[in-house]
Amino acid sequence: MNSRNIFFSTRFLVSVFSLKDLPTDIGLEIAFCGRSNSGKSSVLNAITRNKKLAKTSKTPGRTRAINIFSIDDQKMNRIADLPGYGFARVSKQTQREWAKLITAYLNSRQSLRGLVIIMDIRHPFKESDLTLIDWCSETNTPLLIVLNKSDKLSKSRVLREVEKANLMLKQMNLKGQALGFSSTKTTGIEKLDEKLKRWFDV
Ligand code: GDP
Repeated sequence: MNSRNIFFSTRFLVSVFSLKDLPTDIGLEIAFCGRSNSGKSSVLNAITRNKKLAKTSKTPGRTRAINIFSIDDQKMNRIADLPGYGFARVSKQTQREWAKLITAYLNSRQSLRGLVIIMDIRHPFKESDLTLIDWCSETNTPLLIVLNKSDKLSKSRVLREVEKANLMLKQMNLKGQALGFSSTKTTGIEKLDEKLKRWFDV
């Protein structure tokens, strides 16, 4: 990886529980979402090569927030780490509140450039993931599906899962793509970097 990687200087900006506290809605924002335990934090760490970032968004209290990271202050390129969904141990009421925050964010954020959905490659396309995919389809929002934990499956199985996911997106007529990825082994990192850079227009 060359030293000019734009994600190396990513820094934490702010945690917000309400849309009014988000940074000014200009520039470009890529939102990361995923079920809890899909490895969303680990994927962010892998992209930025910074293990402290995920720690920031895992700080108690911040897992329910939208955590904003700045990729480039001048260009106003940001990553929005949306609260993980599907926690088994959390009340239905809390889950509804998170869903409300995520939905409000998605439906109002003008600078949203695209959505990255992190899934565990062994358990992809759960109900909440599908809700987000439908939303992308309805709003014509670019979508990237990261099938994480690919190190848990054989190479041929990974290829099959990625193919299956891409076929599904095609059938839905979606502006989207699926990638196999492993945060642990950083497999697939070049493709992911490349895609995000393209979205940020750099
Ligand atoms: P989050 O809740 O979605 O932010 O998930 P985390 O990043 O905290 O990861 C959840 C668990 O999955 C942790 O135990 C990680 O070590 C593990 N994990 C994350 N990514 C990978 C991966 O690519 N491969 C494997 N084998 N484990 C992973």
